[in-house]
Amino acid sequence: MNQAVHLMNLNEAELSAFVASFGEPAYRGRQLFGALYRRRLRSFEEMTDLPKSFRATLAERATASTLTLESRYISEDGTRRYLMKTHDGLPVETVFIPEERRDTICFSSQSGCPLQCDFCLTAKLGLLRTLTAGEIVEQVIFALNDAYGAGVKTPRGTNLVAMGAGEPFLAFESLMRALRIMADPAGLYIVPNRVTVSTAGVVPRIRELAAVPDRPHLAISLAAPTDEQRDVLMPINKKWPLAELLAACKEFELSLKPGERFTFEYVMLDGVNDSDEHARALANLLNRHQLRAKVNLIPHNPADPLPYRPTPPAQVERFKNLLEAKGIQTHVRRPRGRDIYAACGQLAARRPVTNPQEQILHQLS
Ligand code: SAH
Repeated sequence: MNQAVHLMNLNEAELSAFVASFGEPAYRGRQLFGALYRRRLRSFEEMTDLPKSFRATLAERATASTLTLESRYISEDGTRRYLMKTHDGLPVETVFIPEERRDTICFSSQSGCPLQCDFCLTAKLGLLRTLTAGEIVEQVIFALNDAYGAGVKTPRGTNLVAMGAGEPFLAFESLMRALRIMADPAGLYIVPNRVTVSTAGVVPRIRELAAVPDRPHLAISLAAPTDEQRDVLMPINKKWPLAELLAACKEFELSLKPGERFTFEYVMLDGVNDSDEHARALANLLNRHQLRAKVNLIPHNPADPLPYRPTPPAQVERFKNLLEAKGIQTHVRRPRGRDIYAACGQLAARRPVTNPQEQILHQLS
């Protein structure tokens, strides 16, 4: 194991304090900050504007990078999945999703996930470990460099979503620290307004996030309109049932800016939670709480051994229309990167296409 300090855990003031601890002036901290977050360099050898002796001292005490790339998969739709490994050998996955207007980077907050959502492949890994802030920042840096070129300025409008592996609200401290580091205008300059954090419903953290002055947007995974069904699909519901979850959302609503909404994600499982009855129950649930929300319908992304299939497009459309008829703004999330196990709920450190099931996935996408 590498005991050295991972510098991507540190903000500018902390980098300056770190270099001061071995007698370097504060401006070296600023230089290091620029090398890491403006130029997005992941090795000291590349930081050629820093004196050799300083780089040698750094190399003894710290590291600029702890993730190593295992494989990169490119989907036929252009989506890229990076399968990386932590210093202690655990999988970390990040997805780059190119879009016409703006690109999105989807990062992971944990290796594996402790929640047991029945429709999600990541759940099958269990929790391996919560990631550090540095491991979150490094995922984003890695994806930016691969997508746009090392050191090339991030296009304005590239968005981040904490929708990879793990439950971001169980990695709250790492996540908030990473977001603060990434927001610095002198560095990556990805402000919280360009970030959406998705939770399966860790209620106390919803309240906590509402109180953060400069906070990211919030998305909540619902998957079912009743406690009875949500208990089965998302066991976290037994701890924080719908009434508590929606009460917290109602409080969160007070922190929304004008025009801002929060999002409910609803995975659509063929014949399970996608009937007209479910649509009406969902609309009534949201309307009863009078929430300023929109709904994102996500047709299930299948993967062996998950016992679900995606709702057929005609029923997805019907479901959407039923919600809209009840005044709920609804959007259907187009699946991206299904052929390379990069779509929602498919991150489970899968290797390249080798078995027949993976061939089937390829045809579905
Ligand atoms: N743990 C957080 C972050 C993950 S976001 C959360 O649950 O919100 C991933 C999103 O994809 C969630 O909305 C989840 O419900 C959804 N999802 C999980 N498995 C899926 C699958 N196989 N197909 C489609 N969506 C899925």
